[in-house]
Amino acid sequence: MPHLLSIDGVRRTFGKHVALDDIRLDVEQGEFIALLGPSGCGKTTLLRAIAGFLSPDAGRIAIDGQDVGALPAHRRPLNTVFQNYALFPHMTVAQNVAYGPRRQGASRREAHERALEALDMVGLRDMGERHPRQMSGGQQQRVALARAIVNRPKLLLLDEPLSALDLKLRKRMQLELKHLQEKLGIAFIFVTHDQEEAMVMADRIVVMNGGRIEQVGKGEDIYLRPHTRFVADFIGEANLLACRAAGTGMLALGSQEVPVPCAQPLPAGTLTAMLRPEHLCLLPAGVPVPAGLVSLTGTLREQVSVGSHTTLYVRTEAGELAVRQMGMPDVALRDGDAVTVGFAPDRLHLIADAS
Ligand code: ATP
Repeated sequence: MPHLLSIDGVRRTFGKHVALDDIRLDVEQGEFIALLGPSGCGKTTLLRAIAGFLSPDAGRIAIDGQDVGALPAHRRPLNTVFQNYALFPHMTVAQNVAYGPRRQGASRREAHERALEALDMVGLRDMGERHPRQMSGGQQQRVALARAIVNRPKLLLLDEPLSALDLKLRKRMQLELKHLQEKLGIAFIFVTHDQEEAMVMADRIVVMNGGRIEQVGKGEDIYLRPHTRFVADFIGEANLLACRAAGTGMLALGSQEVPVPCAQPLPAGTLTAMLRPEHLCLLPAGVPVPAGLVSLTGTLREQVSVGSHTTLYVRTEAGELAVRQMGMPDVALRDGDAVTVGFAPDRLHLIADAS
């Protein structure tokens, strides 16, 4: 069986700027893929190349095993939802959604029925007679979705479709969209620069940086086992410490020797050890850390609380560490106090790039 979408060696430049560099990615039927990366990394350009709004300078894009390079955008078996919804203001909601089927030759009645069915899917069955201006941002976004799914494309491309919504609504829509996608079984490729959004929604996340794919994987892999410092740093908060191999199965971290979590031999030279803040615990100096934990001594620099959790920044001999604790700041601690940071050695993740 061919992949639903296969992108092979796609490159695109704008003048001297390389916007896409040797992109390779396969997407399967019914998958939810997030394209994630900082502004300017090439997410939209890749989406536009898949949609057929721009042609790559090199490489091949195939859908169901068929090269779509020669197909104009409107002939490709996919649809796109844009950030700004792009609804027709003079048409009712139902007419907006029925527009696609009508253009494809459906009778007025059939197109209307299909529009109502699509509106039903997005929870707007009773709003077909309204005009877009009479609807909230979230509702307009759902109309745009209904319009995109009414022709049952195999693949739906979504370019930051939730970015105009406020945070609460955006979070609700993330789940709604995920459930809708599961119900429809249509593959989604969703552009976002919000790592939380990607983690919540996607089956697989494609992390992009400077026109290249840095890593493709499930949210858990990307978060716990990043391949590069860029990925570790871009997804959530990461403590990145320089370290080096110190004899068989050991790692030198500051003046400490720590057992290496993985069995494979370590490369020579400097490595990066990643520790997520929630995998660290903090104790006042002198209180022994539980057996089996590695301990690093340091000084508390400051505590920063967002209500639900507090991040404690500690200066240690191995480098600055962020430690996450549930709830409000620890009132028993003052900035400048001597503290000990503990962690289980298997929480260390090694990255073979020390840049
Ligand atoms: P954002 O999250 O800000 O939308 P992005 O990851 O989607 O960013 P792209 O829009 O794909 O980034 O742009 C990638 C790079 O290519 C950027 O440096 C951008 O300036 C450049 N670029 C994109 N389109 C064009 C164009 N039509 N002409 C010239 N440069 C372009």
